[in-house]
Amino acid sequence: MSEPRLTIGLAGNPNCGKTTLFNALTGSHQHVGNWPGVTVEKKMGHARHGELELDVVDLPGTYSLTAYSEEEKAARRFLIEDRPAAVVDVLTADALERNLYLAVQIMELGVPVVLALNMMDEVRKRGKDIDTGLLTRLTGCPAVETVARQGKGRREILEAAVNLASERAGAWIPLRISYGPDLDPVLDEMEAIVEANGIMAGKVPPRWVGLKYLEGDPGIMRRGREASDQAGEKLEKLTAKVAAHLKKTLGTTPDAIIADYRYGYIAGIARQVVRYPAVDQERLRLSDHMDRVLTHQLAGPLVMALVIYLLYILTFAVGKVPMEAVQAAFAWLGKTLEAAMPEGQLRSLLVSGVIAGVGGVLGFVPLIMIMFFLLSALEDTGYVARMAYMLDRVFRIFGLHGTSVLPFIVSGGIAGGCAVPGVMATRALRSPKEKLATLLTAPFMTCGAKVPVFLMLAAAFFPGKEAAVMSAVTLAAWVAALCVAKLLRSTVVKGESTPFVMELPPYRMPTLRGLCIHTWERSWEYMRKAGTIILAISVLIWAAMTFPQLPQERAAAFDQRAEAAQAQVEEAKAQGLESAALEDAVKAAEAAKSEEALRNSFAGRAGVALEGLTAPAGFNWRVNIALLGGFAAKEVIVSTLGTAYSLGEVDTKDAAPLSEMLARDESFPRAAGIALIAFVILYAPCSVTIVAMAKEAGWRWALFSMGFNTALAYVAAVVIFQAARLLA
Ligand code: GDP
Ligand code: MG
Repeated sequence: MSEPRLTIGLAGNPNCGKTTLFNALTGSHQHVGNWPGVTVEKKMGHARHGELELDVVDLPGTYSLTAYSEEEKAARRFLIEDRPAAVVDVLTADALERNLYLAVQIMELGVPVVLALNMMDEVRKRGKDIDTGLLTRLTGCPAVETVARQGKGRREILEAAVNLASERAGAWIPLRISYGPDLDPVLDEMEAIVEANGIMAGKVPPRWVGLKYLEGDPGIMRRGREASDQAGEKLEKLTAKVAAHLKKTLGTTPDAIIADYRYGYIAGIARQVVRYPAVDQERLRLSDHMDRVLTHQLAGPLVMALVIYLLYILTFAVGKVPMEAVQAAFAWLGKTLEAAMPEGQLRSLLVSGVIAGVGGVLGFVPLIMIMFFLLSALEDTGYVARMAYMLDRVFRIFGLHGTSVLPFIVSGGIAGGCAVPGVMATRALRSPKEKLATLLTAPFMTCGAKVPVFLMLAAAFFPGKEAAVMSAVTLAAWVAALCVAKLLRSTVVKGESTPFVMELPPYRMPTLRGLCIHTWERSWEYMRKAGTIILAISVLIWAAMTFPQLPQERAAAFDQRAEAAQAQVEEAKAQGLESAALEDAVKAAEAAKSEEALRNSFAGRAGVALEGLTAPAGFNWRVNIALLGGFAAKEVIVSTLGTAYSLGEVDTKDAAPLSEMLARDESFPRAAGIALIAFVILYAPCSVTIVAMAKEAGWRWALFSMGFNTALAYVAAVVIFQAARLLA
């Protein structure tokens, strides 16, 4: 048995699985790496196919056969000088077009090529399919499917390579691609010259030499001069002439034209050979029918409004129950602790700082979970894509993107959202600039924590018109968000808007499992962020509003008043007299002490100090403290205002006494109330949102938003207060 040994080369792009296939074929254990450039040297191994002994050579991974890199030079040298009996070109089948670029160049050289469509497992996983029979017919090269990692297709590859090698018996049949009306005639002319002068004769096809001249390959040009100075000069002249012509007519170079036509040829093959997931025609038709209504010019927006409305109704109707349960649980915890612990700083810290703060955040979790569940459902069905599509035309005017709608809605585009998940939802935006503009403006929306502030102010200054005020506030928030987005997009976040590619996948029934996973992922992220940071912040607020404490003697004076009143209550009770009015006096004395203590605290002093600045907007020191607290969390505004107006604890849900107090406060006119509403819509996002922003876009933008929004809010409040006073 003295069969000649056959040499089989393995070529392919970096990371296509060459080394894996090499190991599968040869049983060797070369290092397999998941990064390009692992195979720098060519490696040799042995394989048997029946009686045949084969030398298998693993070539360095390359994308092309130009001679720019060491890898390309090594691969080309091997093909031309060692003349393997066949080359197995390994292709990442999932990226057929990119991978065929190298294959086509090897085919142009004429080496017998077997196409190994590797990673077919990935292709199938995507539901795609490749017609290998057709690929073989179109390219003239046998195509074999492989999954190198599982050793699948190993035998078939060797068989195809051996058969092809014996069929060709050393002959090279180069592939001829047309390079268009400019280059084809030149290539013909060059081919004749190369042939006549025997340039690289017997090694490579003459037309290939012409191609290399057109690509400006210095190594080949040198070979031309070596063969015949005259011929070399002629070929170079032809190249220069056609290059000048192309520059003049098309403004491009020969190698660019060559690449274009190669890609064109490849695209033509890929288009015919790759079959995309078999889609259920029935489902597509149904989807089209649905879209005729759901994205209809008039019906579409109406349905969308209804869907969003239902989303909120459901969220709040269903969410109310667990939300109240969580809040009640935390209230109970606070009360229990208050009863169990002796009065003092520690109790105050735990009850007012830790439990109130964390409870405030966790109270939102049920709402957020339900909203995320419904939003995930809308997303998974494919409806959100339709919403983005319908709104894109409007949003585009303001430098935003159709996809911006989701962050806006989640943030409170309809009163009651939360900017933290809203900012997180900007991740769906692919263009960084549009994402930035969206995340900077989404916090203007009316989040759930701002709602009680507006309701309380509405009750104070527009009694009986709460609903109208809420609608106006929501509208104002949208106008502010869109206008500021436009402003940002034409100044600090300038840039082209990304074209909206209409990706409307067919509607799909979401799975419960998928929805639960999505909901959990997002809610958990909110809890983690909010839970850790809010704890620190609520402790800070607590400290700012508690220290420094009232001096001993002033506190004692208040305590004496309260005790005196308490004594009167006891006395009245003992005599069986009416004691309600006296009990109120006790409460009033205690509340007066809280107000005084707040005024004396760091936060109170800051509020007083800021009065000079905020007077033009109509804000007094009480409002200032509340707004300062709002930097940390908007929930704080109402309760702080309650303490500042010496009402003791004001329940967020029932702020009626505070409204009455504000309405009666002559130093706080309606104009100031309107200015305050505007300020709360616009000013800095709460601290948890700021942290979320920093995560998404960096601290620079998070801090920018704090400064910019507050400045904007201040200017708006001053203008509104002054204008409203003039009109009144
Ligand atoms: P090379 O750069 O072409 O030598 O590629 P390697 O052989 O180093 O493989 C690159 C990566 O692709 C490795 O992580 C392999 O495990 C993986 N791989 C190779 N063949 C297959 C296959 O058929 N299917 C899948 N899914 N992965 C593969
Ligand atoms: Mg390798």
